[in-house]
Amino acid sequence: METEIKVLDKGFVRLEKYMAEDLDVVNAAKVSFLKRAKTIGEAEICLINFLAENHHTSPFEHTAFKFHVKAPIFIFREWHRHRIASYNEWSARYSELKNEYYIPEPENVRRQIGKPGRYRFELVSHDQAIEFINTLVIACKESFENYQWAIDLGIAKEQARLFLNVNIYSEMIVTLNAHSLMHFIKLRNSPQAQWEIQQYGAALEYFFKEIMPNTYNAFNKFMRNLKNG
Ligand SMILES: Cc1cc2nc3c(=O)[nH]c(=O)nc-3n(C[C@H](O)[C@H](O)[C@H](O)COP(=O)(O)OP(=O)(O)OC[C@H]3O[C@@H](n4cnc5c(N)ncnc54)[C@H](O)[C@@H]3O)c2cc1C
Repeated sequence: METEIKVLDKGFVRLEKYMAEDLDVVNAAKVSFLKRAKTIGEAEICLINFLAENHHTSPFEHTAFKFHVKAPIFIFREWHRHRIASYNEWSARYSELKNEYYIPEPENVRRQIGKPGRYRFELVSHDQAIEFINTLVIACKESFENYQWAIDLGIAKEQARLFLNVNIYSEMIVTLNAHSLMHFIKLRNSPQAQWEIQQYGAALEYFFKEIMPNTYNAFNKFMRNLKNG
């Protein structure tokens, strides 16, 4: 298994630590009968499927995944809406951020068509994409120059950062259990989510699939496409 996945142009998801395996789900459920399983066989896989199919979600919570994530601030803005997780983020009050901005590839600059909730996206022409990217690069350069100018002037970092754009990179530690992780993957590695956060959702999905393969299968079969839940 990989331990770090590169995401976007400068980001990553790094698995720092985990306490999670399919057996954790099985044994959390089996405690109802004061029983334990030592290995995963057909009966244990059936039990995981039963739990997933019947929304018996608490056995999935006796697990933990700790990730170090580097992502643009606009991604963290969406990510931190997922309240059932623990977060600690790099402080731009205490230290200076780096001159690292997310710049999309020209073949991924999009226009949105349709109504809110039902947008579809099409690529703009290559010329429009290049114009957008060139202007964005200039804006980011100016933004960081102003940030450094303010710091050199003696302005506090917490105010100097007002010059920075939301595509500047930040870093955080996030820890969550498998129930929450499935919920995040369902919502964010989905075509309805912004493409950029989908890439982070896909990285988390890779780790989940590797570490809890039977739970992952049950999630895909019974939980992922549920409208409510
Ligand atoms: C495609 C998409 C578009 C979005 N657009 C917008 C938008 O335009 N504006 C916007 O503000 N947000 C938007 N969001 C964010 C969205 O509303 C949720 O805040 C976010 O997806 C986190 O989901 P959650 O609350 O289910 O997750 P978590 O916060 O991790 O919560 C997990 C579950 O715990 C329970 N829970 C947690 N807290 C509470 C609580 N206080 N009360 C009751 N139950 C609770 C709920 O069952 C919840 O589903 C969007 C999300 C997506 C995926």
